[in-house]
Amino acid sequence: MDSFTFLDKIINESFIREPYIKKSWWATDLNSCLRGVFYRRKGLPPTSTIPPDRMGIMEVGKIVEEWIVNKVKQSGNLIAEQLRIEAPEYEASGKVDLILNEGGKPVLYEIKSTNSFSFKYKLKNRQPQPQHKLQTLFYLWRLRNYGHQDCPEVDFSNLQGRLIYVSRDDLNRLIIPLDYSEVAIKPIIDQLEILNTSWKMDELPPVPEPVVFDEEKGKWIINFVCDFCAYHELCAGRDWRAKAEQEVKERNATLEN
Ligand code: SF4
Repeated sequence: MDSFTFLDKIINESFIREPYIKKSWWATDLNSCLRGVFYRRKGLPPTSTIPPDRMGIMEVGKIVEEWIVNKVKQSGNLIAEQLRIEAPEYEASGKVDLILNEGGKPVLYEIKSTNSFSFKYKLKNRQPQPQHKLQTLFYLWRLRNYGHQDCPEVDFSNLQGRLIYVSRDDLNRLIIPLDYSEVAIKPIIDQLEILNTSWKMDELPPVPEPVVFDEEKGKWIINFVCDFCAYHELCAGRDWRAKAEQEVKERNATLEN
């Protein structure tokens, strides 16, 4: 084996993760495929592997997050990082990326890295991705209402939340503030109730559409939640991808006409 292949092997192997049984639903599960979430909590072994480039995207996300947290630490304004948040009555949990002291008030940040194409689209329309929004609202919901045992001195009752998108090309940033309300957190509770009911009854939650319209690209694509899922063969059969690709082709052809 030559040295190039050897190095590649080391890196690709570092991406391999053993399946594990999740003890709760995660904030990052919200607005994703609830069936995939159910499979993951069961700890089922994946039926297909996620390609290294997809795993690489997740790894870059962690590197970007660390970079931002380190900058905040150096400034002396860090209140918390990777703060664990629980919603025990819904069997749900998550970890806040960053809470910053801004002029004496806490502000929560959820950090997301993105490719430059998607970043430019976000600069234009200034809307967060729905799953990122729900994840961040989950943290606001719990902290505003219950505070946090690790930060007893901090008043979170009016905590503001922001999503920070970072371009992977040049570390350019876009910060989008979120509006918190009882209405905004309703989809979180609805989705957690679907998951908990399915879990109790041991029944699979519904599947999302395999093909969706991508507003950023202006065309039909394979539902990206399925791109990051390793259970295609369990819920959709071996030819799932080929069928979805064909459907994408047909739908996009009608757009061009
Ligand atoms: S393959 Fe798609 S529909 Fe099936 S569990 Fe995974 S994400 Fe959900």
